Amino acid sequence: MRNGLLIDYEFCTGCQSCEIACKQEHGFGIGKWGIRVLDEGPWEIDEKTVNWNKIPTPTSLCDLCAERTAGGKLPTCVHHCLAGVMKFGPIDQLVEELDKKPNQVLSSPDHTPARRSDTHSSPHIAWESIPLRAPGDTLQRPEALIAPGRFMSR
Ligand code: SF4
Ligand code: SF4
Repeated sequence: MRNGLLIDYEFCTGCQSCEIACKQEHGFGIGKWGIRVLDEGPWEIDEKTVNWNKIPTPTSLCDLCAERTAGGKLPTCVHHCLAGVMKFGPIDQLVEELDKKPNQVLSSPDHTPARRSDTHSSPHIAWESIPLRAPGDTLQRPEALIAPGRFMSR
């Protein structure tokens, strides 16, 4: 069973608790992150509206908290998300959720889980990314999820 993270960034507050929780859980030092809260904006949509999204984005170091989830716990970012906008689970279920509303991002690494005890020095997690879609583009269809990567609904 393949798992992933679904993040509803429409309601993300940008608190960065997920970033800190991930760093502490994995012992990532300065400059290494399992997830980053990226800024998309600010830029003006029209005279009255500014676009400014905070978009939490797992990096290639994300192992979906393999040790925690193997023990039946939630990933630490999901556990510590103050706004409750992160979900962990089977990718099929998350795809159904992704299809229900815009402004979400689905991440699914395709890898042999990287654990803290691993001695690998080279990246061994494969990711692909699909660029943000422009307004009016159609939603990414589930069949595209055959490939690993990040997918967004807008
Ligand atoms: S699932 Fe775990 S490793 Fe991945 S971003 Fe969240 S806390 Fe970090
Ligand atoms: S912890 Fe939740 S609300 Fe805070 S930045 Fe991360 S995803 Fe957004």
